[in-house]
Amino acid sequence: MSVTFFSPQAPKVLQDEFECFRSVNGSCESSCPHCRGEGKVRFYGHEGEFNLSNANARAVLAAIHEDPEELVGGWVPEQLSDVRGRILRMLNSERKRNAHTRAPVVLEAPGKPRMYGAGLNEGMLKCRLEALLSLICKAQENRGEVVWS
Ligand SMILES: [Zn+2]
Repeated sequence: MSVTFFSPQAPKVLQDEFECFRSVNGSCESSCPHCRGEGKVRFYGHEGEFNLSNANARAVLAAIHEDPEELVGGWVPEQLSDVRGRILRMLNSERKRNAHTRAPVVLEAPGKPRMYGAGLNEGMLKCRLEALLSLICKAQENRGEVVWS
């Protein structure tokens, strides 16, 4: 599972495009439910949106003093300056980021498939906090909110 952070007021932008799997020689029937006959399947998202694994979303939320169990939430425009301040304080302190890292884990049990849990180091957390900061800055320009789910 993953969590998407975005600003609903941000403009929609093309995020990904690929040839429709039903197309023949680049074209499709106009009734195709995947591409409506365009031969290309396109995915749009809100400018600045990004996805995090549930575990990384929890780490980011905890780092900025939000409830890490609330994987659905949002901030109205009036809250964004305060959130921005909390992100900047975390970005300015490697020591504080280190408190929210996670070592990779491998779970093994006889007769069961091996399970890997990806880790999160301080640099990876910094990168995700920067993405959130950028999203918030854009939302503030648009007088928009930021939501996650
Ligand atoms: Zn198609």
